[in-house]
Amino acid sequence: MTFDRRSFLAALGVGGATVLTGADRAVGLSGGSVRAGAAPSVDAWPVRARSPRLAPDWRALRARLGSRLVLPGDPGYPVYRLGFNELNDGQRPAAIARCASAADVQACLDVARGHGIPIAARSGGHSYLGYSVPNGGLVIDLRLMAQVHVRSDGTATVGAGARLIEVYTALANAGRLLPAGSCPTVGVSGLTLGGGIGVLTRKYGLTCDRLAAAEVVTADARLRTASPGSEPDLYWALRGGGGGNFGVVSQFTFRTAPAPGMTVISLSFPKGSAAAVIGAWQEWVARAPFELWASCQVAGGNPPSARVVGCYVGDQSQANRLVDRLVAAAGVKPSSRSVLPKSYLDAMRYMAGCSNDTLAQCHPVSEGGRLSRESFVAVSRVLGPRPLDAGRVAELMNGHTGVDLLLDSLGGAVSQLAPDATAFPHRSSLASAQVYASATPANRREVTRTVDGIRDGLARLGATGAYVNYIDAGLPDWGHAYYGANLPRLKAVARRYDPDRVFAFRQNVAFA
Ligand SMILES: Cc1cc2nc3c(=O)[nH]c(=O)nc-3n(C[C@H](O)[C@H](O)[C@H](O)COP(=O)(O)OP(=O)(O)OC[C@H]3O[C@@H](n4cnc5c(N)ncnc54)[C@H](O)[C@@H]3O)c2cc1C
Repeated sequence: MTFDRRSFLAALGVGGATVLTGADRAVGLSGGSVRAGAAPSVDAWPVRARSPRLAPDWRALRARLGSRLVLPGDPGYPVYRLGFNELNDGQRPAAIARCASAADVQACLDVARGHGIPIAARSGGHSYLGYSVPNGGLVIDLRLMAQVHVRSDGTATVGAGARLIEVYTALANAGRLLPAGSCPTVGVSGLTLGGGIGVLTRKYGLTCDRLAAAEVVTADARLRTASPGSEPDLYWALRGGGGGNFGVVSQFTFRTAPAPGMTVISLSFPKGSAAAVIGAWQEWVARAPFELWASCQVAGGNPPSARVVGCYVGDQSQANRLVDRLVAAAGVKPSSRSVLPKSYLDAMRYMAGCSNDTLAQCHPVSEGGRLSRESFVAVSRVLGPRPLDAGRVAELMNGHTGVDLLLDSLGGAVSQLAPDATAFPHRSSLASAQVYASATPANRREVTRTVDGIRDGLARLGATGAYVNYIDAGLPDWGHAYYGANLPRLKAVARRYDPDRVFAFRQNVAFA
């Protein structure tokens, strides 16, 4: 069995991914606009910035990009305008520029800024709220910039449009790894800029902790290098300060690590044991060696049920010993237990839920072929250093069939940096908590109320932070929750590099 969010939810019979086929796209084309039943879009642009101005000169951009500039009415538009979350399908950008170089990105800014339209970069398109496909705005699409090059010194340059499976595959071929997220189709850009939590986080740090340098096109259309020795404030902000806030990254340079053997772990526990498992899991990960990462996944219901999935950097026998400790502490015999050795790439594919697929099938396809998407609502909280009251966490999930709480361990290498060393502030946190549910346009409001209720319940129990990559327009205290004491410095960096708010969107750090 494999364990990305989709397969986890599918295993529980809770909706999950859909695949948009060529036939589905034909409906989009003939309909010419929003798919039937699509939800109203999330308004990603502050009202005050909408004063009508002369439209950008798209002809000038077309002269440079040719058919890579996709406008409404162009054949590719119904597909290129879509993000990952189907609930945002109501959003209709004015133009999508498929950039192939930093110079293309600069040309986009030269043409589009100053016209009062939103401008947003898109890498993997997984923004929960569709912030990378702004309604009426310009999408600076980076998908064509996905090259990964591993150098002999172990650093790797990664094009800003690469998706995680592409990064993992290229690095694995060179015997190297980068700690990053679990979903194969997530873009390296959004993930890194918000932090980057994944199954190797406790051993190797967040993805942003591995960032050595970034090439960034700022709002003034200048291409800059952000690194410890060049634009150090920008470099600081790009490591956890959130996608879309400071400029368009065109390329990342990461410090990779040699890829050792790994062991993947999966345990299912009987219904009714959620409180015991959550309690034991929290104590277990708090004391675990950095080599172990684990997630406690609680499925709402009557009563809720729990699973633990994880990844251990090391051999199977050591992993089994650690698992024995968890089982003993929970005092509940798992209904299923699997502890399997894997290579780095196979471990990533297993955790991504595409172990049984070819690499091409793990691979995201958004140009031609199929487009795998989900329709969901998800919100976040981040725990403090101490465990939550496990019984009360389980109670929060009581009765909520179809809602999942994903507790992903932090700590380990993440805790080795100070909260202000990078923009990611949650350095002493035990875990990230995400509340996730499939939703349709028809039940979106009701599902949102439910997940928000659980999110607020977690905050009452002490989980008051939140993770910017699980971005949530309804989070009342989002600026402080995402950035903590780093917020004022982030706002100052945004003011300096984007004084005219060219990259404004509803949850741009400047508006926090
Ligand atoms: C199925 C799924 C699984 C996930 N799993 C994980 C996980 O395991 N770990 C984790 O940490 N997160 C995870 N996430 C959250 C993910 O990190 C965020 O949604 C992230 O923002 C997605 O990045 P993207 O490039 O795919 O999205 P996009 O929608 O392309 O971008 C997200 C934001 O970043 C901006 N942006 C994109 N590219 C650039 C760029 N080059 N320069 C500047 N700004 C840019 C966009 O404008 C937008 O505001 C998951 C999300 C989904 C939907």
